[in-house]
Amino acid sequence: MSKVAVIGAGTMGNGIAHVFAQHEWQTLLIDVNAEQLKRGRAMIEKNTERQVSKGTLTEDRRHQMLGRITTTSNIEILKGVSDLELVVEAITENPQVKFDTFRALSRLTAPSAILASNTSSISITEIAGHTGRAANVIGMHFMNPVPVMPLVEVVRGRETGDQVVDRVVEIAKQLGKTPVVVRDAPGFVSNRVLMPMINEAILCVQEGVATPAAVDQVMTLGMKHPLGPLALADLIGLDVCLAIMEVLRDGFANPKYEPARLLRDMVAQGKLGRKSGAGFYGYSD
Ligand code: NAD
Repeated sequence: MSKVAVIGAGTMGNGIAHVFAQHEWQTLLIDVNAEQLKRGRAMIEKNTERQVSKGTLTEDRRHQMLGRITTTSNIEILKGVSDLELVVEAITENPQVKFDTFRALSRLTAPSAILASNTSSISITEIAGHTGRAANVIGMHFMNPVPVMPLVEVVRGRETGDQVVDRVVEIAKQLGKTPVVVRDAPGFVSNRVLMPMINEAILCVQEGVATPAAVDQVMTLGMKHPLGPLALADLIGLDVCLAIMEVLRDGFANPKYEPARLLRDMVAQGKLGRKSGAGFYGYSD
């Protein structure tokens, strides 16, 4: 059975672990925060329960799938894992934290292991520079919620090997996803297009042009977006949105990507969206 390690059990990491385990991968889920690891596992249990009640997963397969997921808060454990084919990193969108983690990953895993990042915007080429095996480093950018969204944006760093791109494309297909290969650039395609729109929607609220609900209605009813940009920002996490805008601003050295003041203020107040219970909207659960 193929083996994957998923680093980070937050919004994205638990969804990524869910999808790998559902497609027969032995899955090791790692998070420094033991509480978050518990929450991540509970989220997978809840989401698979929903799949069973919808009839898209049998109780038997659910049981087997949950049995394929192990959790730990000790990344050093990777040293003893044999035949680990792939690591997918889904930790906080902070370049220094990612660089440290990739240095650790290249020390702890076999040279043949593919090291993928789920980063939304940080340069894959730069991340690869901290590993000593740039040919094996790639972006595997899943969308939120991972079990539902069909796209994986596969990001080819400057030195990513062709075989590694081909294998990651194959793995994404095996997970039932549609891979789209893009080159490394700030925000890739997805967030270079999406995030300035979200930032602009926040500016509309900041300047009193419209309420969050009104901004979202314009985009859902007028542009046929399934979710308004502010509801989507809450789903993504406002801290993640802020981090991506900063990468765009710095990467393109262009003030048009300056994050909205309201976005900064909300993050400073701990209003991070759904995961913190409040963002542009309130969430009781
Ligand atoms: P999150 O804040 O929900 O979770 C991050 C997790 O990483 C936390 O549980 C934290 O404890 C853990 N962590 C932090 N440092 C760690 C370390 N050194 N080792 C192990 N675990 C560590 O964040 P998220 O929304 O899941 O985002 C994770 C990554 O996925 C980011 O790079 C983000 O840009 C990207 N992403 C997010 C979305 C989204 O919609 N939220 C979509 C696509 C990609």
